[in-house]
Amino acid sequence: MDNSIAGFPTVLVKTSSLRSIDGNLLLEALDTADRALLAPHVERREVGRGDVLFRAGDDVSHVTFPAQGCVVTLVVPLRDGKSVETATVGREGAIGGVVSQGYLPAFGQAVVQVAGPIIRIDADRLAEAKHASKTIRDLFVRYADCLLAQVLQSVACNASHTIERRCLRWLLTLQDRIGTPDLPVTHELLADMLGVRRAYLTEVLGRMQREGLIAIGHRRLTLPDRKRAEAASCECHAAVRHHFAEVLGAVYAPGGRMVAVDAAEPDRLKPPSTAVTLRDLAP
Ligand SMILES: [Zn+2]
Repeated sequence: MDNSIAGFPTVLVKTSSLRSIDGNLLLEALDTADRALLAPHVERREVGRGDVLFRAGDDVSHVTFPAQGCVVTLVVPLRDGKSVETATVGREGAIGGVVSQGYLPAFGQAVVQVAGPIIRIDADRLAEAKHASKTIRDLFVRYADCLLAQVLQSVACNASHTIERRCLRWLLTLQDRIGTPDLPVTHELLADMLGVRRAYLTEVLGRMQREGLIAIGHRRLTLPDRKRAEAASCECHAAVRHHFAEVLGAVYAPGGRMVAVDAAEPDRLKPPSTAVTLRDLAP
């Protein structure tokens, strides 16, 4: 099995940090015993914008955890050359083999939208760790449920909501994951994410700027008033965020709720020491 990833630059990083899980909230939520299970199999890399982690049909050998401000999108390319975003994953999650454990070919394509560090774990080693630890298994069951919720809401949104509202949903989702007011988004990238022509998108963005919903800069967009953007967006962003808070809340916030997956055993999952609340994820 070829473990290489298309277009992946390998950069030199300090040996001491090569096995660090810092910067990914899912992994940081694990306790010392679970971290020790995964530590020998953790690899850190830097990825650049446009790098493809896997394509449809690829054997996904590793599960990828974006860290810090790195953001990866799962897109479905269509025969006419368009592609549409189905899920956007950053430091809150993981991509590739989350459910299939890497044994099945990838369905979509994973593309890096915001450059940064990623953490990779061999899918077979992660499957062994899930087998050995109930809490690791539990965390991934919860996360898989949240990822599915995100995909389901995308289907509904793409079918029913206006381009302006879909655009705001994606910008709010991105802002949650990178945590800065400035979003490194070009018109081209946004057109690809939304599956529309660039000229049409530019017209839509111009209208949104005149309404004060976004500010357009050089290769970036800003949401000047997040509350207004939330109000003008469709319900999809808030619905997915609410599901994350219900199912994985304690991973992101000390006071977060964690619904029981298996009520027979108390959860060992702990919020990370430098806990980031769902509210903190947005500036
Ligand atoms: Zn929507």
